[in-house]
Parts: sequence; structure tokens; C-alpha cells
Amino acid sequence: MLEGTEVHERLERDFRKDSTPASFDEVVEMSKSEATLTRECFVMSQKYGIRGFIDEIWMTPDEIVIIDDKPGTKAYPSTINQVRAYSLAFKDMTMDKRKIKCCLRERGTDNIFWIEEFDENTEKEIIFTIKRMHSLIDGIKPFMATKNPNKCRSCRYKSLCKKSKL
Ligand code: SF4
Repeated sequence: MLEGTEVHERLERDFRKDSTPASFDEVVEMSKSEATLTRECFVMSQKYGIRGFIDEIWMTPDEIVIIDDKPGTKAYPSTINQVRAYSLAFKDMTMDKRKIKCCLRERGTDNIFWIEEFDENTEKEIIFTIKRMHSLIDGIKPFMATKNPNKCRSCRYKSLCKKSKL
């Protein structure tokens, strides 16, 4: 985590040297005529009850690329869902019609090790997952327990989950 924070801070310093401060709406508008790169972009969707900071967004007149940096090169379902949720929040905030791509990148490198287009099916899947998570948190649906107690140790829902193995 410390290594991740250092890499993150270095990237942030390098980025600030050549960047121009702009609001979220200004960058989205600007990117319709020229390529832009944004870091640490806060997104939130009240409609879906999600929010977060996107590590990096590349916007060109043709497409939007949402990038999340990860310490390894394995695309876990949870990290895929995270970057899909960012894309959903971005789309909901901007109502932008450009093609959106979701990417996972190895932290501190240019290695994009996973990429997909955020299409209609992907959008439906992540909306389903987010709704399910909200219904678990609200106690409407029961948690399905893992058989692996190690997973419960770092699970952020363990205080709510009656099936936690801890
Ligand atoms: S605490 Fe509950 S939700 Fe979390 S991993 Fe364990 S069984 Fe699954």
C-alpha cells in the first residue's frame, strides 16, 4: 500500500507540472474538440448510489477511456466491477454519447492489462450488481456466504454480514 501511495504521489506531481486546472464540465466540453487527460477525477451518481475517484481519464472527440491503476496484472471480478461502476457514474454524470472503454493498468507503468468497451450489456450487468449490493446493505436480500474464511477477514461487509466466518 505504501509503495502504491508513493507511485501515486509521483504520478500526481508529474501530472501537475504540465497540467491546467479545469472543472469537470470544462474538461468534458474541451475534450469534444481535443484530447485531454485528467487524473484523480471524482465521480458520483445519486441515481445508482455510487461514488469514487477515477485514477485517470483520457478523453478524445471519439471516445472516453476510464483507467484504474492496480498493484498487479490480474483482472479480478471485483476490480472489473469497480472500473465498470466508475464508467457508469461518469456516463450518468455527463450523459455523454461517446464510446466509453474501461481499463485496468499496472500501477506505475503504461501496461494496460485489461480493457473492454462499456457497452449496453456491460452497463446492465453492473447496474444489476450495484442494485444487489444495495439490497444486501439495506438488509433486503441475504448475503451468500463464502466458504473461505480468509475472504471474510478483509471483507468490508463483515460487520453487516450474519454469515461471516469470523
Ligand atoms: S463477511 Fe460475509 S459477505 Fe464478506 S466475505 Fe464473509 S461471508 Fe462473504
